[in-house]
Amino acid sequence: MRRIMGVLVLCLTLVWAVQAQEVKYDGYQVWRITVRTPAEREQVQQLVRDVWMVRGSTIDVCLSPDEQETLRKAGFTGEVLIPDVGARIRQQKSEFAPQDGSLFTRYLTLNEIYAAMRQLADQNPRLVQMFEIGRSIENRPIYALRLTREPRRARVYRDRPQVVINAMQHAREWITPPVALYFAYRLVAEYPTNTQVREALDRLEVYVVPVVNPDGYVFTHTTNRLWRKNRRYIGRVFNQPVYGVDLNRNWSYGWGGEGSSGQPWSDTYRGSAPFSEPETYWLSRWMLSLPTLRAHVDVHSYSQLILWPWGYTTDLAPFNGVFERVGQAMQTAIQSVHGQFYIAGPIAPTLYIASGGMTDWVFGARGALSFTYELRDTGQYGFLLPPDQILPTCEEVYPAFLELLRWTRQRDWRE
Ligand SMILES: [Zn+2]
Repeated sequence: MRRIMGVLVLCLTLVWAVQAQEVKYDGYQVWRITVRTPAEREQVQQLVRDVWMVRGSTIDVCLSPDEQETLRKAGFTGEVLIPDVGARIRQQKSEFAPQDGSLFTRYLTLNEIYAAMRQLADQNPRLVQMFEIGRSIENRPIYALRLTREPRRARVYRDRPQVVINAMQHAREWITPPVALYFAYRLVAEYPTNTQVREALDRLEVYVVPVVNPDGYVFTHTTNRLWRKNRRYIGRVFNQPVYGVDLNRNWSYGWGGEGSSGQPWSDTYRGSAPFSEPETYWLSRWMLSLPTLRAHVDVHSYSQLILWPWGYTTDLAPFNGVFERVGQAMQTAIQSVHGQFYIAGPIAPTLYIASGGMTDWVFGARGALSFTYELRDTGQYGFLLPPDQILPTCEEVYPAFLELLRWTRQRDWRE
């Protein structure tokens, strides 16, 4: 009996310890601040820890009560987008309905996403294959779906150009995995009846990677809903443990430049070297192994944008005209579904300079037509998008992905 009690006490202690670690956001607010000069923007970014979005003179920040006071004293005011972040997080979680059968009415856990991928592959062996790309820093598998006619007859069809859609480099961007997963499910569902889809999967190889950063995603479910980076342990700074590299600043093309940080505690920490992180290392190695990689989308949130290279410089990329034509076709496709407007443009001039991003590498090093999407919304909920917007977001992005397949199938875009 004493032993059972001992085990029970140990279990309760462990449960308490895990729960006690959960980061609370009571009293936190998200503000939208309009700055007059780049120097003011710089000042805001130095005064606050958690920047959600920067675009032109607009900056969204998530503020503790202390930071709200600091900003007020420095003379900054803002429009309050989310008056109580803690309440909003609880609301998003209470809207969980685990008994609901549909995959796209609530946010799934990592295991649920992987189970849904496995089920799709198991039930459609002549159209879908699931495989592991590599492992994360905490040794979780990073899974991909390969969609093409008769995938098991060849490791890769050399006469079928490859298209890659990936999501969730940034852990708190919960809307991104369902959009990738939905794309795969709907391609399979429409294959028998939709000529465009059938021709795409007969002549292309479509790869879908819903979660590039599995450790970060799990961490947002267990401990800190607003975590962004991966979960590498870097070391102790001022006796505090510091974790995480921003995976989308860790790619080798333009690595180390403006719009990335060398400080390990920064949310845009670029890591100690290009591809220092297993997640980016395995993903890049795998993409280099694809013989005819032609097109790619890296899915993020939020802001409603369709972006293309470059991120590391405001110079226009070669073939900017092609990017513009495809980007505008995607924009029209998205708007036709639920009327949502996504702005289209090159990353640095449209958003901000960001070096070491995936899209720059896929275009610059691999020569594939590469886009970054920023999904819903435009700031009302930000990363805490309510579950009733999951399905509409999936639905509106689907035809934009089809546009990319159509372009890829027509001809080599460089001709
Ligand atoms: Zn992101």
